[in-house]
Amino acid sequence: MIPQFSNLLELQKYFNNELVCAKYLEQKKWNGKPVCPDCGCEKIYRFKTRLRHPELKDYKDFICSNKECKKIFSVLTDSIFEGSKISLQVWFSAMYLISAHKKGISSHQLASDLGITQKSSWFILHRIRCSYEPKPIEEKIDGLFQADETFIGGKNKNRHAHKKVDASQGRSTKDKTPVFGLQQTGGDIHTFVVKNTKAETLQPIIKSMIKSGAIIVTDEWNGYNGLSKDYGHILVNHNEKQYVNGAFSNNAIEGYWSLFKRGIFGIYHWVSAKHLHRYCNEFSYRYNRRKISDINKFELALLQSNNKRLTYNQLIAKPVVDLTEDVDYDVVQD
Ligand SMILES: [Zn+2]
Repeated sequence: MIPQFSNLLELQKYFNNELVCAKYLEQKKWNGKPVCPDCGCEKIYRFKTRLRHPELKDYKDFICSNKECKKIFSVLTDSIFEGSKISLQVWFSAMYLISAHKKGISSHQLASDLGITQKSSWFILHRIRCSYEPKPIEEKIDGLFQADETFIGGKNKNRHAHKKVDASQGRSTKDKTPVFGLQQTGGDIHTFVVKNTKAETLQPIIKSMIKSGAIIVTDEWNGYNGLSKDYGHILVNHNEKQYVNGAFSNNAIEGYWSLFKRGIFGIYHWVSAKHLHRYCNEFSYRYNRRKISDINKFELALLQSNNKRLTYNQLIAKPVVDLTEDVDYDVVQD
């Protein structure tokens, strides 16, 4: 049986040593049947003694049986945990905390919560954000969308009139970094750090994701001019404080930007343009899973840490191996 947790305390109680964490990861990653990460071979042996990851007490490595390959690997290979000196117990708690906190958690806060250095905590958080990177969409999406841009950091003069911030004119020497967002009504948000908000930048993103014929609600920014050729294009006029046009509005994406900015400015205070895409991933990851429990968010994050080909259905599928028993692999002497 896969254990059920409902909060951080239960999670920490269950994952009380490194071997339990590693076994749990093996189950999540391979459903009990390890596969070679290099050649895909499924005939895998487990060493009797070889401990390539001494930090995982009693954890034995695998070796691929393919003579051309003979890859030695563990459950950590190619995951966000590979090569980390931080224990899996700490990683797991960090992954739970970042997915449970709506506006994120700062590296200082996480460091003091988990008793690690701020440097380690900063690194852990970025690795987790990397694993949140969304998969490329398999086919274009249809429906009703809201498209909008927001700006993080920088100068007022480059902003669309209704997005200007009072009293910030000319204070910053650095430009703001634009972030473009597409929100499907009742569905997911997709955000992109972009170099500018011109039509030539925004519209290829829209066209790569949204089926022609779908409806897109935007404000009157000229980056959206011409969308009506391929889409039902509805305008809301923000300059006249209009946020709704009949049944259509940009309220959902405006709400998302406000959550995003409260997190960026309130929790992280300042985010460099270089790392901004990872924070975008972090916020959209949580937002798009807002209807599932914190513990399921944690489990999904574990899957993404290992193998991006795994789906939600594989996660909720019943495991073939009882986690409370030691899995019986073929063994080979190191
Ligand atoms: Zn192999």
